[in-house]
This record gives sequence, structure tokens and C-alpha cells, in this order.
Amino acid sequence: MRDTLLLDQGYQPLKVIAWQRAVVLHLVGKVELLSAHTWEIRTVANAFPAPSVVRLTRSLRHRQPFVRFSRENVYLRDGYQCQYCGKHCAGTELTLDHVQPSSRGGGTSWRNVVTACVRCNRDKGRLTPAEASMPLRSVPRRPKWLAPKILRVGAQQMPESWQIFLH
Ligand SMILES: [Zn+2]
Repeated sequence: MRDTLLLDQGYQPLKVIAWQRAVVLHLVGKVELLSAHTWEIRTVANAFPAPSVVRLTRSLRHRQPFVRFSRENVYLRDGYQCQYCGKHCAGTELTLDHVQPSSRGGGTSWRNVVTACVRCNRDKGRLTPAEASMPLRSVPRRPKWLAPKILRVGAQQMPESWQIFLH
């Protein structure tokens, strides 16, 4: 994990951003550095620790209105856990599964897409959970923007320096 956890002014987790973006935000004074990764960023002139946790120095005027639908955000919402067998996996071992198969009209949306391991996705095939006798572990919904609860579920994927901000 080389990304950076972004906190709001009140130390609440907002989202995970690329470390490059965190460096830029820091350079322009929008965030302060709270914790660093163990690896360093090297430039021609010098080296400095990569940001692990940063905090906005000003309060946000508006919260993000909604979470962008993406593969990573579905995995995050589901805590990197297969929603059928419950296995925790790395992102590379996971797939997105259409609850109502797309070949039968199921849309690609927060309410119809869940995290599934390769095996469960293959076993389920073009069936619904009921037809495949593979009940879902949770009802898929649009998440609030990376609420602390969501981050906590995926905690095994996260650097130690993030932990204290996620509880
Ligand atoms: Zn599974």
C-alpha cells in the first residue's frame, strides 16, 4: 500500500488518495503531514518520507455528494471480502459480480454489483443468488464516502499508521 489516507480537519477519514496527490497538496499547504510511510520519495536533490496520513488544514465547504462507482470503491465498500463465501482476498484475486446477471438485464450499479472471489463468480455464473443458492452476506448499497466503518473492514490491507484514525 503506497497510497495516502486523507483526513478532514476534524481527523475524520475522507478518502484514500495517491501519494503523488498528497505530496502536491502538502506542497501547496492544503494538508499537514501526520504520518509517513517507511519508504522514501527520491528526487534529484534529496529524499523525503512518503506521506501515509495527511490532514486538511481547512474545513471542507461541502462533503462529497456521492461515492464514484469504481472497481476499487466496490472492493472498499465490501471490505475486500467476497460477498458470497466471505473470504478476504487481495484485489487481484477479486472480481465484480452482477447480482442480477447483466445478461439478464442487471445493471452496473452500487445496488447490483458486489465483490466476489474468482471461484464464487464462476460458480454463480449466470444465475441469481437465489437460483445458485448463494445468498449475499450484505445488501449492496451506495456507500457514504469512505465512512470509517468501510475503511475498518478492509483494515488488513492498510498500513499500520492508518489504524488509529479508523477507529
Ligand atoms: Zn467467494
